[in-house]
Amino acid sequence: MFLISVFMIGPSCAQKNKKEKVAERFAVTKTDAEWRKQLTTEQFAVARKAGTENPYSGKYWDNHEKGIYKCISCGQDLFASTTKFESGTGWPSFYQPIKKQNVLEKTDRAYGMARTEVVCSRCGAHLGHVFDDGPKPTGLRYCMNSASMDFTKTK
Ligand SMILES: [Zn+2]
Repeated sequence: MFLISVFMIGPSCAQKNKKEKVAERFAVTKTDAEWRKQLTTEQFAVARKAGTENPYSGKYWDNHEKGIYKCISCGQDLFASTTKFESGTGWPSFYQPIKKQNVLEKTDRAYGMARTEVVCSRCGAHLGHVFDDGPKPTGLRYCMNSASMDFTKTK
């Protein structure tokens, strides 16, 4: 809460970190009202409003089934269970996306930190963040929200 208030009231900070409404064109675009109909309240807050679910609260942090994690908003394949690893964070974590072009990375300066946000390349859904403290072979840690993904089991 402290960090949030600092961000909200610091005028110079707010100026610098102002989130521009980027005129991005995604293949799948819907209005907030349409997304609200399709998604649960939590899914909408995370995937469409860049929220973060509480650690150890999501459906998938401890999921060990084989399958594909798809975008909750548009169904695009995002991550494979074969690249999931135990990060100990309470969020489902992967060392690489299923295809590089299926996710986009954006700089996120919220809360006074520069982090790399990961969004779905087809619909712009917020998925989580990527950090460079992951395991081999990539050294990356895609720290995702269960609420932004839909798991499909494979044999
Ligand atoms: Zn999507």
